[in-house]
Amino acid sequence: MARYTGAVCRQCRREGQKLFLKGERCYSDKCSVTRRSYAPGQHGQARKKVTEYGLQFRAKQRAKRYYGVLEKQFSHYFEMAEAKQGVTGENLLRILESRLDNIIYRLGWASSRAEARQLVVHGHFKVNGRKVNIPSYLCRPGDVLSIKEGSRDSDKMKAVLESNASRPVPKWLDKNAEAFEAKVINLPEREDIDAPAEEQLIVEYYSK
Ligand code: SF4
Repeated sequence: MARYTGAVCRQCRREGQKLFLKGERCYSDKCSVTRRSYAPGQHGQARKKVTEYGLQFRAKQRAKRYYGVLEKQFSHYFEMAEAKQGVTGENLLRILESRLDNIIYRLGWASSRAEARQLVVHGHFKVNGRKVNIPSYLCRPGDVLSIKEGSRDSDKMKAVLESNASRPVPKWLDKNAEAFEAKVINLPEREDIDAPAEEQLIVEYYSK
């Protein structure tokens, strides 16, 4: 399973905004975007002329990084989105939102998508009663997600659940915290997705 292994905060600084990749640290004054609000590297503070292509490229990179998806998989999702009926950009966001690691994060069962990914790989969750350890698993309306019985009492899981208990859950997910369960009611509409994604620019990027 390929994943990005470089400096995480560097990605936010490159995009010039918080992408919330590190959990609690992102909400503290230790956040690198708060401390150094310019791009990383030797020329990070230089003024640059931004081209149309540059805007499209950055929009694609930002969405990719926000969801923790690498290039090959992201372009595969774009092909899937194009093949579906409806608006391609919105289809793309809906596919990204339906990834198991994203939903685990949205439910507050992990502090970041990276942590969700790790917890999924370690087999802490079930979908429709069966263990699923594939972070890119695409959930569908009606799917019931749960935390595995043996994982609910682990110190790690308890700490994660406690620190994220107050995080709001999107309305397209129905969470039952006491039962350690949640149901995917439907896939989100565009207005339900708070990702910093400019999907039209992404569509233009791939349409060249
Ligand atoms: Fe991004 Fe979080 Fe790092 Fe801030 S602390 S730069 S939001 S990953």
